[in-house]
Amino acid sequence: MSDYDVVVIGAGPGGYVASIRASQLGLKTLCVEKETIGGVCLNWGCIPSKTLLRNAEILNLVKRAGDFGITVGNIRADYAKGFQRSREVVGRLTKGVEQLLIKNAVEFRQGAAYIDNPNQVTVSGEQYTTRNVIVATGARPKVPEGVLIDGQIVMTSLEAILSDIVPDRVAIIGAGAIGVEFAYLYQSYGSKVTLIESMSQILPKEDEEISKALSRSFRKLGIEMHTSTSVSELVCLENKGRITLDSQGTKKEFWVDRVLVATGITPNIENIGIENAQAHITDGFVSVDENLLVNGKNVYAIGDINGRIPLAHVAQAEGVFAAEHIAGLAPQPLDYNAMPRAVYCNPQIASIGLTEKEATDKGYSVKVGKFPFLANGKSLTADEREGFVKIVGEANTGELLGAHLIGHEVTELLGELSLTRALDGTTQELGGLVKAHPSASEVIKEAALATYESALHI
Ligand code: FAD
Repeated sequence: MSDYDVVVIGAGPGGYVASIRASQLGLKTLCVEKETIGGVCLNWGCIPSKTLLRNAEILNLVKRAGDFGITVGNIRADYAKGFQRSREVVGRLTKGVEQLLIKNAVEFRQGAAYIDNPNQVTVSGEQYTTRNVIVATGARPKVPEGVLIDGQIVMTSLEAILSDIVPDRVAIIGAGAIGVEFAYLYQSYGSKVTLIESMSQILPKEDEEISKALSRSFRKLGIEMHTSTSVSELVCLENKGRITLDSQGTKKEFWVDRVLVATGITPNIENIGIENAQAHITDGFVSVDENLLVNGKNVYAIGDINGRIPLAHVAQAEGVFAAEHIAGLAPQPLDYNAMPRAVYCNPQIASIGLTEKEATDKGYSVKVGKFPFLANGKSLTADEREGFVKIVGEANTGELLGAHLIGHEVTELLGELSLTRALDGTTQELGGLVKAHPSASEVIKEAALATYESALHI
């Protein structure tokens, strides 16, 4: 007899969801967390960053109150107060997850867990036997070799999210989702932002047209961007950072108050005994099979640690999968091509599936349909005219290969596109749906209609 059916290591979105689902399925479950319930997402990631971004969005809306016929007096933005709001939201949500674990009869231990062998885990000197282990220890910001994070001038997202100060001048290294979100946040509060990306476009994983549209928008806001550019030197002197950029041999030097390093993640694989579970490590991440198993038997690795798609909802979906697999429900393997992606600057970016280039490179015969928010009634009533929806369909069957959105609150429009993909729906079906009028989601219908030259309102 084992003490537990499942020991879950880590209470981030992957771990706490796996624990709840396992317990719901009648498995005796222990969840272990060494820091704070909620992991990166709730404490230092998704939730505080989205709260800060909402503050910035409100600030920008108030700045253009005149467009709506509303006169406001002197606008004074208090970042520290907005920061306080982000910590309050974090506190509320982490408490909520704590309650969810209790409600679902998940046993919880505070402490660092170590895998002694695939059937035994030690927490603070106490040993627990278990039939299964789910490792969900997440990841931390990746720091390029030779860069020292001092927390004052040079920061990662962790120090930045816990700071109540907006720097006057900031360089952001890395224009993925985190870099782009901080660029929008700081610029909104008056920083002079320089965004540096070694790839040829900002948001390198997104569709080229979406990236170009965001670049145009950021340029208008005053954000300076350097793509195909690396940082060849970073020196800290007298409370300032000196950055040297190298753009295909051309050098440029400038000074900033703060440098934010946003160059990806490093999985937390140290001191967890993962080697005692016969794990294979590939590029630093724990390799898993199609059932998310590390050792083919009873040790699973879910979330950021397995290097598949480092997003909170993917970690949660993997947590549910692992729990159901342990319970013998034979769940369907996850379709990683159908995982939604979202970036919360303004305009927001939302996407699912293949970009136009990826679809063409894979040999699909592609039909693209686009429709701008400028031609949508609801967007005009809200005075949120920026952006468009781009649908990538298979030319003969109408299969929805990908969808790429840029505009106000477009992350809220992703659901129907996920559902269409999950149900193997087509662009014809998307185009045929009757939408409430006026609504922003009419733009998806029109973009789908445009893939077969039938858009009505353009
Ligand atoms: P984590 O959330 O990292 O949790 C792992 C937990 O394991 C931690 O609490 C850690 O303390 C614990 N742990 C580690 N070792 C041990 C041990 N030995 N014993 C016990 N516990 C241990 N994703 C999105 O989907 N949307 C977003 O908008 C978004 N925004 C982000 C913004 C920022 C600034 C950052 C940094 C990330 C963002 N992410 C976002 C990514 C998201 O936070 C991660 O994908 C998600 O947190 C991964 O979940 P996880 O459960 O795998 O790991």
